[in-house]
Amino acid sequence: MGQEVDFLVIGQGISGSFLSFELERAGMTHRVIDKALPHTASRIAAGLINPVTGRRLVTTWMIDELLGFAQEAYGRLGETLDGSFFSPVTVVDFFPTAQMRLAFLQRLEEGGPYLRLPGDERDQLDRFHYELGYGSIGPCYLVDVPGLLNACRRRMKAAGVLLEERFEVQDLIVAGDGVRYRDLEARRIVFCDGAAGFDNPYFSRLPFAPNKGEALIVEVPGLNMKEMVAKMGISLVPWRNDLYWAGSSYEWSFDHAEPTEIFRQRTEATLRSWLKLPFRTLEHLAAVRPATLERRPFVGFHPAFQAIGVLNGMGTKGCSLAPYFAHELVQHVLTGAPIRADADVKRFTKILLR
Ligand SMILES: Cc1cc2nc3c(=O)[nH]c(=O)nc-3n(C[C@H](O)[C@H](O)[C@H](O)COP(=O)(O)OP(=O)(O)OC[C@H]3O[C@@H](n4cnc5c(N)ncnc54)[C@H](O)[C@@H]3O)c2cc1C
Repeated sequence: MGQEVDFLVIGQGISGSFLSFELERAGMTHRVIDKALPHTASRIAAGLINPVTGRRLVTTWMIDELLGFAQEAYGRLGETLDGSFFSPVTVVDFFPTAQMRLAFLQRLEEGGPYLRLPGDERDQLDRFHYELGYGSIGPCYLVDVPGLLNACRRRMKAAGVLLEERFEVQDLIVAGDGVRYRDLEARRIVFCDGAAGFDNPYFSRLPFAPNKGEALIVEVPGLNMKEMVAKMGISLVPWRNDLYWAGSSYEWSFDHAEPTEIFRQRTEATLRSWLKLPFRTLEHLAAVRPATLERRPFVGFHPAFQAIGVLNGMGTKGCSLAPYFAHELVQHVLTGAPIRADADVKRFTKILLR
């Protein structure tokens, strides 16, 4: 006789970690299956939650709800893990061109929320070369994603929830109202498999749009930048152990998911001309973001297999989207509350039934 659980969760990135936490809060038994891979999207993410995006400084989708929810969700999870992985930061957005300065000022005048001009635009001159001033974006938040994932993993291991192995989808059997996987029986399974989802036979038809990103981990002695993220084309973000994360690229077309020499050279050249302090590159990271064509996540259950679900497609915004939609998915199962229509995979019913 195998073990019976309510849920199987495939993947322990930011999505699977929050889903596991929400299931625990709801009193549902579950197992998480994750092969410990070092360079997944979650493990190399800067961890920034920034409410505005792009050159036009547009407020991002659902951001007011997402910010409020993220504060609560990271607070709750941090308390459970006995650590703090979420902190407020200000994004200091240096203007690379006069047009960008103008665009910022116009957006500010239109009442663009989250934007401010600092009291003294020259106060970063001891650290950075810049000529056109800067604007501030806030409140923003920084998540220590690797720290959070490691703490979740330790807790899952201690509770016997984690199976550290590769999930082999060909061994999954739909059985009655639930699923069977080797010696495990579950009422439902949810794929939080990130970029591996592009090849998942149940959900590969969804309109994923793989996007590769690279980053450098650099040491900058004396920079001492703890509560701010600096941006000038690339972002420089506080990382663990007094190091900094510098990135990233957004590649829609790529031959492989490995780091490239061209990114390293370009990013180091940018840092050399921007930073007033010397730096040293310690690591070069790359991963594929599970992005989607219409930039909305994939949440919910397969129209033909009610026991098989998905929480994926977080794109560039896993840190804010994953907590919110993990909660929504579990509430949907518990109470039948609907999943937001523009995130629910039901919008692709025709494609998934093909
Ligand atoms: C360079 C870069 C910078 C980024 N910066 C930010 C940022 O600042 N802010 C932000 O919000 N987002 C950022 N992102 C995006 C963010 O990383 C993603 O949105 C998010 O990590 C997706 O999380 P996930 O849990 O859905 O997927 P993943 O992180 O890919 O996790 C999937 C997990 O499933 C496991 N898995 C998959 N298949 C199997 C299998 N068959 N068996 C066992 N385990 C399996 C994988 O090993 C992995 O652990 C960035 C991404 C990149 C690449």
